Order: sequence, then C-alpha cells, then structure tokens
Amino acid sequence: MRVLIADDDDVLRHILQTTLTKWGYEVAVARNGLEAWRLLRSDDAPRMAILDWIMPGMDGVEVCREVRRQGDEPYIYLILLTSKQNKEDVIAGMEAGADDYIAKPFDPQELKVRLRAGRRILDLQAELLSARETLRYQATHDCLTGLLNRSAVLGALRNELERAGRQGSPLCLMIGDIDHFKDINDTHGHAVGDGVLCEAARRMRASLRTYDSVGRYGGEEFLFILPGCDPQSARNQAERLQSCITSEPVELPRVTIAFTISIGVAVRYPVAEEDLESMIHTADAALYEAKARGRNQVIVVEPDGTLPVPVAAAPDAVHSLALPHPN
Ligand code: GH3
Ligand code: MG
Ligand code: MG
Repeated sequence: MRVLIADDDDVLRHILQTTLTKWGYEVAVARNGLEAWRLLRSDDAPRMAILDWIMPGMDGVEVCREVRRQGDEPYIYLILLTSKQNKEDVIAGMEAGADDYIAKPFDPQELKVRLRAGRRILDLQAELLSARETLRYQATHDCLTGLLNRSAVLGALRNELERAGRQGSPLCLMIGDIDHFKDINDTHGHAVGDGVLCEAARRMRASLRTYDSVGRYGGEEFLFILPGCDPQSARNQAERLQSCITSEPVELPRVTIAFTISIGVAVRYPVAEEDLESMIHTADAALYEAKARGRNQVIVVEPDGTLPVPVAAAPDAVHSLALPHPN
C-alpha cells in the first residue's frame, strides 16, 4: 500500500519514510501542504496520508478539507500528525475530514497499529465497492448471455433517443429473433439452446461498434441500438449483423447447430420525442413481416413507414440444422 507522508520538517519526514518503508509500505513524500494536495488529487493518489498539521502553503487541516470536498471515491484515509494536544484542536482536525490523529513525538508502535486500522477501513470499503459493482452488473445484465437485460437496453434506447434528438442525428433500432428456436430446444434439449443463445450473443457483441448497444429483449429476441446509422446504411448494417451471427454454425461439445435469425429494422431521422414506443412497434412489425415472408431475412421499414415490396420468398430450410459432429 502507498502512503503519503507530508511534513516540512526534513528530519521527521526522513524518520517516517524509513520507518514506513521498513514496515513494507510504499512511500510518497511531500514537503508542504500544496505538494501534498497535488499528489492526493492525482489519478493514482496514495490511499493513505500522514499529514503534518502545520506546514507552509496549506496546512494539514486544509488538505483534509480539500480531499473530502473532492468526494469519497476512492476513499483516502487521512491521519493528522500534530503537537496540538488540546481537545478543541483534535475535534477541529477530525471535523475537517481527518480519520485519525497522532501526537508528536510519535510512538512507532502506536503509528503501526493506527496504520493497520486505516488499512482495515480501506479494505472494507474496497469490498463494499466491489459488492456494489457486482449488484449493479447483476441488475443490468442478463445472467445467461451477459448482454444488457431488457430494462437496461430499454434505458439505453431512451438515452440514445434523447441524444439523437438533441444532436439531430439518425438512430437505428433492430429487433432480431432466432428462427424456430423452439425446435432447437425440442430436438437437442434446453442446454444446447442455452449454448446457442450464448454464442449468438458473443457474436452480436463482437460485430457491433463500441457505441452501439445490444440487449436481450426476451427469450431468443435481441434489441440492437445503432446511433448515427442512417436509413441508407441501416439495411447494410442489419445484413452484416445477420451474417456475423449466423454464417458459421455453433460448435457445442456434443453437437453443431446451424441456425438463422430474422431482423426487423426501424430508423428515425429526425428523431421525435415520443419515438420509443413507436420505434419498438415499427421494428417489431418489420420482424413480424420478416417471419411471415419466410424468416432468415432483414426487413427495413423506411422512415415514412413503408415496407419493401416482397421479392422471391427467402428460403426457410436451414433454420436449425444439426450437422454431423466430427467426433
Ligand atoms: P419463430 O421462428 O417464429 O421465432 O419461432 P421460435 O420457435 O423461435 O419462437 P417461439 O416463440 O415459438 O419459441 C421460443 C422458444 O425460446 C421457446 C422458449 O422455451 C425458448 N426460450 C426462451 N428463453 C430461453 C432460454 O433462456 N434458454 C433456452 N434454451 N430456451 C429459451
Ligand atoms: Mg424465434
Ligand atoms: Mg420469439
């Protein structure tokens, strides 16, 4: 653990530095309060600091106050080093945001246990933060595929609609639904179905740009949000996505599964405020049309609401073909 020692007294600073290094701490030093404050607000600031109370430039109490004004994440554990012993001074120091104080001349054993107590607090805080991160992840992600879950992807759509409205840029929404997925479950079992969903999700993530979003909208239905994708490129993007997801069969431990996906596409340019429901409705209607026209295809609804005229019926033969496995 890295600890900052801030003291304008060269001798004391040196003693502290030697002592802490001997105890296994990595040490950063500052010769005055301003230097200490600069180090504590840097990106890789030490998580613990021993601050002399009286220093030129900025005193230890002011440094405590500034650190706390910055916020609590990541938390920095602050120990004031002081020859002031009266109660009022100690209270003022703690009120300014110090976690602890040590009287000068310091007793090495006392300093050692107080540093250990500080480390325990920091470890506990790190555990809490990681538990909170885990919970946040679980609340926003689908546990099978790791994609955004339904409510998170709808939240992303809401945000992107707002942004596209503000920036006057186009927005494309796609709903993809794996064709005849029930047959895969019925023929090979639920675990194989799960394997296909996971691999399909991995391919979806891999084929999107970093600022696109994808989420699991329902069982084998996925929602894709492509900011900035205009009506001209929507079809290309959807076909590219379709090909990335289904051009290779999925290799699972006991079986290899080829499958297809139908995609309904809605594009808005410009975006209107009430577009969330209507955009989902449009993409859903396009998906329905893709299913009706034989599946394994992309249907794009033009911004004026028109559907493309049907061409020759697309093949519906390869929807869930189980290929012979090499082993
Ligand atoms: P269509 O081409 O019309 O979309 O037909 P489909 O068979 O894909 O659609 P349908 O809605 O009839 O069936 C979807 C199936 O997806 C039924 C459901 O049991 C299955 N499913 C939903 N969630 C999961 C899941 O998490 N794992 C697995 N293995 N199957 C799931
Ligand atoms: Mg389906
Ligand atoms: Mg479905």
